[in-house]
Amino acid sequence: MDNFIPTMGLEVHAQVKSKSKIFCRCATDFSEKPNTNICPICMGFPGVMPSINEEVVKKAVKAGMALNCRINLRTGFARKNYFYPDLPKGYQITQFKVPVAENGFVILSNGKKIRIRRLHIEEDTGKMIHDQNEDTLIDFNRAGVPLIEIVTEPDFESSAEAVEYMNRIREILRYTEVSDANMEMGELRGEPNISVRRNMGDMLGTKTEIKNLNSLKAIEKGIDFEIERQSRLLKEGREVLSETMLYNEKKQEVIPMRKKESASEYRYFIEPDLPDLIIEEAFIESVKKEMPELPEEKRVRFIKQYNVSRIESEILSSEKSLADFFEEAIKNIKQTKRCVNFFIREIPAILNSKSIDSAELKFSASDFNELLREIDSESVNLNSAQIVLSEMSEGRGKAEEIIERMNLKQTNDDFKAMELIKEIIEENPKEVERYKKGEEKLFGVLVGLCMKKAKGSISPAAINKILKEMLK
Ligand SMILES: [Zn+2]
Repeated sequence: MDNFIPTMGLEVHAQVKSKSKIFCRCATDFSEKPNTNICPICMGFPGVMPSINEEVVKKAVKAGMALNCRINLRTGFARKNYFYPDLPKGYQITQFKVPVAENGFVILSNGKKIRIRRLHIEEDTGKMIHDQNEDTLIDFNRAGVPLIEIVTEPDFESSAEAVEYMNRIREILRYTEVSDANMEMGELRGEPNISVRRNMGDMLGTKTEIKNLNSLKAIEKGIDFEIERQSRLLKEGREVLSETMLYNEKKQEVIPMRKKESASEYRYFIEPDLPDLIIEEAFIESVKKEMPELPEEKRVRFIKQYNVSRIESEILSSEKSLADFFEEAIKNIKQTKRCVNFFIREIPAILNSKSIDSAELKFSASDFNELLREIDSESVNLNSAQIVLSEMSEGRGKAEEIIERMNLKQTNDDFKAMELIKEIIEENPKEVERYKKGEEKLFGVLVGLCMKKAKGSISPAAINKILKEMLK
């Protein structure tokens, strides 16, 4: 038997959105010069006293609740001891025995429940920069920046499931404003652990872990390469070692970095400089009050309220900013379906082609609402609306002005023409077919038929214009 069955778990690190670091008052702004946002506390000088940033606890609790976790009312911090150049203290403050939240879950689109084992708070380390002279520089601005780590049970069976989970986590962290979760900025990183086995009934194989994957593509590729590597080893009768792996994007491979540490090697002990973290019921209540509508709740509501499909609701709610923009734009629209379709067809395409989010558009949601109202009242047709929108997205005015300037308003004649042309098209399918296949002279024939039927009640210009549009 050649195919091995993969099993995976995922650890996700997310940077908590906060002005200051987790245990001191240093700023978390990375745009500053290296080693300027540091102080004796985040550098771990002897005798300093850390104190917990309440905002970070609040956001960790919020994330825990949004991920269906139980919140632990009494937790604390521990020291994880290890030596590394980016860790000036010689230890990292994290949570060990009792995390702030545990036993949560996320449900994937295939209905599968991914169990979340724990969610804990910890501090980030510094950042090493390897320059072209083969020197290594260290920037400690990131040391002490607040993180949450979210750990799943080994519930994934494919890289696609892991990627979808990562997407869900990113959505939830952004909706709740716990993290900006920009993967390319390193604000959200995934570390999959992977094992393979021959049969479903076998014990789980020896697992390896891939470090710091900071794009969805890297998660997908890293997992797939590692499944392949382990399967190959086992097929050759060799052994999978418990190792920490690195994904090399340029070479498209995963390579062993070091032997995997076990928890006992870190010599965890209770952080002596911090008291237990006691979370009061009232605190939880206040976080509950701040909880926004979550992505899944929004999708269910959109399907009901705007009569959209599941896929459409996913598109509309992928970013909270886009969902808010949509709801503002669709206000007081009567022909919802027609306008929702126009929105879904046009807006994501503009955002993608310009690689921007809705806040960076050159028009506001209420400007777009103005255009939708023109569509709604049928003063422009959809083709003209598209032209108006492309003008708007280049910042060349608002809907009404553009319609006026480009003479795109549908007149009474246009409406009458539309009705009549519909009939002509239905009555002459062969001629329409031939025109569409390239016999352009048939356009004149169709115009003639329309004119004859209109008996002079519609202007030839309107017939020409509308017929051209309807034959597209
Ligand atoms: Zn500091």
